[in-house]
Amino acid sequence: MTEVAIDATVAKQNLLDLDREGLERFFADTLGEKRFRAHQVMKWIHHRYVTDFEEMTDLGKALRAKLQAHAEVRVPQIQFEKPSTDGTHKWLIAMDGKNAIETVYIPDKGRGTLCVSSQVGCALNCQFCSTATQGFNRNLSTAEIIGQVWVAARHLGNVPHKQRRLTNVVMMGMGEPLMNFDNVVRAMSIMRDDLGYGLANKRVTLSTAGMVPMIDKLGEVSDVSLAVSLHAPNDALRDTLVPLNKKYPIATLMESCVRYAQRKRGESVTFEYTLMKDVNDQPQHARELIRLMREFDNRLQMKDAAKVNLIPFNPFPGTRFERPDDAAIRKFQKLLNESGRIAPVRRTRGDDIDAACGQLKGQVADRTRRQAEHLKRLQAQGGPGVDAAA
Ligand code: SAH
Repeated sequence: MTEVAIDATVAKQNLLDLDREGLERFFADTLGEKRFRAHQVMKWIHHRYVTDFEEMTDLGKALRAKLQAHAEVRVPQIQFEKPSTDGTHKWLIAMDGKNAIETVYIPDKGRGTLCVSSQVGCALNCQFCSTATQGFNRNLSTAEIIGQVWVAARHLGNVPHKQRRLTNVVMMGMGEPLMNFDNVVRAMSIMRDDLGYGLANKRVTLSTAGMVPMIDKLGEVSDVSLAVSLHAPNDALRDTLVPLNKKYPIATLMESCVRYAQRKRGESVTFEYTLMKDVNDQPQHARELIRLMREFDNRLQMKDAAKVNLIPFNPFPGTRFERPDDAAIRKFQKLLNESGRIAPVRRTRGDDIDAACGQLKGQVADRTRRQAEHLKRLQAQGGPGVDAAA
């Protein structure tokens, strides 16, 4: 085995930050080890959820010691977790003292989907999204993104290549994934790697508010499914809901989606449409949307190239928007159906744990403030002290 000079002053490399290629390079260049050793370690981490090198029993003692000295497997800390009565499960994951992000697992007939966050907060300021209200804080690292999958998969006892409980990942948690491109792409590569979570390309979906140049870049490096948060069928309305539309208006956005789908030959693009009462839920909006979707199909010369997902608005404190009533939702859907478009309405899941789309907020600060207020109230009432607030 070749000995390689290693700089001990350099901080330990978190192996969760590396995809297969990065890990192979780390083993070859930094540790002077063979590539297949990297593969063994990947399996320990992502298939068996082992983080202690000592437990990686098919590695020699010397290698384990070397790893101990220069690397670590640092998984994100779970702040708390909340199971819902409908099988949905939410984790609040601590990022640092005051920040947290949320990850949600949603089981459904024959599949289990994990909704993963890509940023702490978000800079895009979509008017109907609760993540926007906290502003942008920072990008998540690769380890923090794939760490969410690791946490959920371990909890579920997920065994790759066997009956899996985690079958799909959607990058639809907090943040705009295409604004954290490299980390998201690397994490998605681990999700799809056989040495990682072994998910099929189609079962990993990236959802974007419409970062046009990055959609093209994604098409060059990745084969994941694309979802686009449309929410309005014309620029005048979309400008008011998704400010990014002023930079990349609908026609430009649709062209980038055409290019993405063309590259994937035969793959559809999903357009998400959050229905808001009296804002974008009227029959004329449905008719405009139908036209837009038909144009997309025509550009690709493929029926159902455009898939529509209807999401009834999920309210959160302080929002000016409302969810349309069921009749309005059904009417909107019916118009789309009559045009030949399936347009499923996404059922709200995990309602009792605030886990629905657009409700993820990572409310550590809020919670701390509420606890302080609660304590103050108790003290004012001459009640018990610190314990009661915990
Ligand atoms: N930034 C990415 C991914 C995060 S949002 C994007 O914009 O696609 C995931 C989905 O939830 C998006 O379609 C988003 O528009 C939708 N969403 C946000 N807030 C919502 C709310 N309050 N009710 C319903 N859907 C919401």
